[in-house]
Amino acid sequence: MVLKLKLGNTDTGFSIVSDNNPEINNIANILYYLFAEFKNIFGLEVMTHKKCSIDNSIRDDAPITCPHDDCIKIYLITDSWDYSRMFYQLAHEMMHYVYFKYFPLINQDNFEEKEYSSWNEEIICEAMALYMLKSVANSKEFAKYSSSFDNYLKKTIIKKQCDTTSPLKIEGDHVLASDFHAKFNKTAQEEEHRAEHTAETMYLYELFKKHKPEVIAEIYDMYKYYNKDYHCINYDSWQENPNFIEELSKIQPILK
Ligand SMILES: [Zn+2]
Repeated sequence: MVLKLKLGNTDTGFSIVSDNNPEINNIANILYYLFAEFKNIFGLEVMTHKKCSIDNSIRDDAPITCPHDDCIKIYLITDSWDYSRMFYQLAHEMMHYVYFKYFPLINQDNFEEKEYSSWNEEIICEAMALYMLKSVANSKEFAKYSSSFDNYLKKTIIKKQCDTTSPLKIEGDHVLASDFHAKFNKTAQEEEHRAEHTAETMYLYELFKKHKPEVIAEIYDMYKYYNKDYHCINYDSWQENPNFIEELSKIQPILK
């Protein structure tokens, strides 16, 4: 069964592929909400840059977003149904979808190159997922579920705050991680890697909440300012919305 997400009569390119999943309509409601929110930030062009299907076939590495020749596929964990968890997973993966506009290529070499740099993208995807949870918890459309979204958000934040493995340390007013390259390169593709950036994620979540959607949209340009070896961002050359960029730059460790 394929359910296509439409805005009015227009196909958005997003669809849900499911074999008799009774939750398909719930996934559709979540997707519809997230699509509208992402479109509000990044615009319709970015959100329709490629066809995207939400696939609930079982994958060990889900939730994950994968590029294919003709579309991008998002795989979620749909074994135990939890509305908030599904929302959180999908919000995170949709942010990856946004960045695939910069990497629409299906070439495996390039895909790996992107993975190599993805610790920065992971922080943004995680912070965006929190930000979207906050938004839906306050929305009229989901008023019925607002307390469960809110509880899930609080639980997730507490879990992140309890994580003591984060390399984020503020010294002066900047993040420091002396073993930046060794640490991030080594763990770039590992799941625990996400846990290692909880402090940066929380910092970014607070930053998103402070700014308007059109300012947050600036993060879309991140890969324009990556240095050649894709280790870090050249914030000095990023001139748009300087106040936001100055604050954003603090998630990047200074090498010592
Ligand atoms: Zn991710």
